[in-house]
Amino acid sequence: MTDIRTARAWAEVNLDALARNYRLLRGLAPGAKFLGLVKADAYGHGAVPVARKLQALGADMLAVACLAEAVQLREAGLTLPVLCLGQTPPELAGLLLEYGVTQTVGDLETGRALSAAAVAAGKTLNIHVKVDTGMGRLGFVYYQDGDEAALERAGREIQALCALPGLEAEGIFTHFADADGSEAYTSNQYDRIQDVIGELWDRGLHPFQIYHCAASAAVLNYPWTQNHMNMIRPGIALYGCMPGPGMENPGLEPVMTVKSRVAVVRDLPAGAKISYGRAAQLERDSKIAVLPLGYGDGLPRALSNQLEVLIGDRLCPVLGRICMDMCMVDVTDAPGVKAGDVAAVYGPGLTEKAAWLAGTIPYELLCQLTPRIPRLYLENGAEIP
Ligand SMILES: *Cc1c(COP(=O)(O)O)cnc(C)c1O
Repeated sequence: MTDIRTARAWAEVNLDALARNYRLLRGLAPGAKFLGLVKADAYGHGAVPVARKLQALGADMLAVACLAEAVQLREAGLTLPVLCLGQTPPELAGLLLEYGVTQTVGDLETGRALSAAAVAAGKTLNIHVKVDTGMGRLGFVYYQDGDEAALERAGREIQALCALPGLEAEGIFTHFADADGSEAYTSNQYDRIQDVIGELWDRGLHPFQIYHCAASAAVLNYPWTQNHMNMIRPGIALYGCMPGPGMENPGLEPVMTVKSRVAVVRDLPAGAKISYGRAAQLERDSKIAVLPLGYGDGLPRALSNQLEVLIGDRLCPVLGRICMDMCMVDVTDAPGVKAGDVAAVYGPGLTEKAAWLAGTIPYELLCQLTPRIPRLYLENGAEIP
């Protein structure tokens, strides 16, 4: 009997590939703790099953973008420490405490409000201090090498933060803006976080337990970012994709394969127009497969007339505009393709290519897959519930 979930379009999430990527990344940073990024529903893979797998594999920590994502993990029974990377409104500090979530703090005002809430609740909130060394997003600002006043100010403010009651500063970190681009800029950012740490030492601040800076691109490109830092923080690499084009893949495998089942194969004559706007016209008598997958599933419309999907061992081009629920694929050169055959759209050798073609990054393609795509989980080669 046809499974309704795989009748049209679906995603297979291979937890064995996740485990292999996890081990490979750990091997690149021996001795460092491992924080697994599961924000944005684990980059579209499903936060709870991925977090469960990472916890079983021995990851040290998880990170999410917001409180709601952290609560989802706790309600599912995850016990690993969870770091919330985004701002949490201080009015919701009670939930951080209730669910045992570690909060990023990047400014003194937020720290004061969280401290007051923790004291009022009679509890201690775990925090990681964020330093903005050149990303321009969140954190205590130290941007300019040799800017003694900024360094002094960052040191003074972080010292004041760490002295607040009700807060336990477990970690300190920064985030690189261009680790898949400029080594010089990344290295400046690295020097700045070290300067801030040095400034804090000079102020007699006790060492933090956890220091971190390296997301996927830094782990893959710059092993030196691990010097004096004791945790890595990869996301996209864990899911088996490269952060940007032109990077060498050390053997990471895409965890997710998106598949779609050919609805029908039709013979159309030379000259026939394909899809909205008549953006494609057949140059020869052709076999056209209709694939029930479109931008309503998260396939970027920007890939119209560009994407290639894998049917059997043949790459077949998408012709014309991608519609909301369907796209058309030229299978003239892939003899024997018939209704019910399966096309791989993202997956090994496909996801990154599609991202660069669409002028974006694999992160966006994975995150924008919609709930209409059922996620199926494979472990030890078999589907798990
Ligand atoms: C998303 C994110 C990461 C992970 O980045 P990848 O490029 O996916 O490895 C790490 N740290 C912070 C602060 C992030 O926001």
